[in-house]
Amino acid sequence: MNKEYKIVLINGDGIGEEIVAAAKVVLEKVANKYQVKFDFTRALAGGEAIDAVGVPLPDTTIEACKKADAVLLGAVGGPKWDHVAPKLRPEQAILGLRKALSLYVNLRPIKVFDALLEFSPLKPENVADTDLLIVRELNGGIYYGEKKEAYIDTDGVEKASDLEIYSRPEIERLMNFTKNIAKLRNKKVTSVDKANVLASSRLWRKITNDIIGQDSELELEHLYVDNCAMQMVLKPKQFDVVVTNNIFGDILSDEAAVIAGSIGMLPSASLGDGTALYEPIHGSAPDIAGQNIANPLGTILSAAMMLKYSLNMSEAAEDIEQAVKCFLQAGYRTADLYRPGLKKVGTNEVGELISQYIK
Ligand code: NAD
Repeated sequence: MNKEYKIVLINGDGIGEEIVAAAKVVLEKVANKYQVKFDFTRALAGGEAIDAVGVPLPDTTIEACKKADAVLLGAVGGPKWDHVAPKLRPEQAILGLRKALSLYVNLRPIKVFDALLEFSPLKPENVADTDLLIVRELNGGIYYGEKKEAYIDTDGVEKASDLEIYSRPEIERLMNFTKNIAKLRNKKVTSVDKANVLASSRLWRKITNDIIGQDSELELEHLYVDNCAMQMVLKPKQFDVVVTNNIFGDILSDEAAVIAGSIGMLPSASLGDGTALYEPIHGSAPDIAGQNIANPLGTILSAAMMLKYSLNMSEAAEDIEQAVKCFLQAGYRTADLYRPGLKKVGTNEVGELISQYIK
């Protein structure tokens, strides 16, 4: 009997439906080639869930995700829901899923495809062959620390605050994960913090030194986040594995995204102790939703990460990466990466075209 995997698909909002549909076409092709069965279930999250049931992350979605082998998500959010209470915003679905599934590490590989070198805002010779992996802590830090919404203080001044907090176990499990993944790559780890001013960063650095620094197989360097932001555009090739906290990782990975030519190109995996979540790094792009111009390659490459990390199908993951390369080399482009002389395609054509390269 064919091996069967349960995959939850969450479209979310904006371009979510279009990009997840493209990835599903590619997964169906993979299922066919490798004689496995993907049992797809749709679940709601974000604005679509608010509209349907009044909350951004229904319990039914959490339950479905917990029972699945993996979750593939488009993106959530949009201006339609900007006025709702902070706790009910669509983006809470992502934070809630990360908590519910105990996803504590986010992997964001940044690879530059040769065919896209001309679209990088950086000099081609500086970005060619860039292949770095951002390992971002996902379940702690300022996004989850105690918040005080705007209030009038005793001095009559309006204030608001967010707390950046990390514990030893949180940092230790991330560094142990990083240690293992770095050994499968070029064995160089750059830890990014702001230890010159933040107490949480000083704890981060101490534990990083204990775990990564003590490992003779690995080379460890520390960079302050401001310097790292600069180095990322000056000389991205210097990096192999970049490990950092939740907020710095969020910002640096968007910065690194432009190196690849378009934010639409980049996949991510969020891993933890249970079901993992795969999603492109961009948002729901409401400005281009429904126009059939979104780039679904980040979602398709997220599906490849899902095959590799959750379904033990590394060969199939490589097939997808190779097919994306062929697709780009053949000159096919969505609008974000188009110039005259190339072949412009709609979002709804990309899945089929990529599938043709999976033999
Ligand atoms: P965004 O990533 O949605 O869009 C930024 C810019 O990049 C836009 O011009 C958009 O058109 C473009 N873009 C993004 N993805 C693209 C793609 N696949 N193809 C072509 N162009 C693409 O960021 P934003 O505009 O700041 O946020 C829009 C909404 O998405 C907000 O509600 C935000 O909160 C939400 N958001 C969600 C997630 C998530 O679901 N994980 C992440 C980030 C932002």
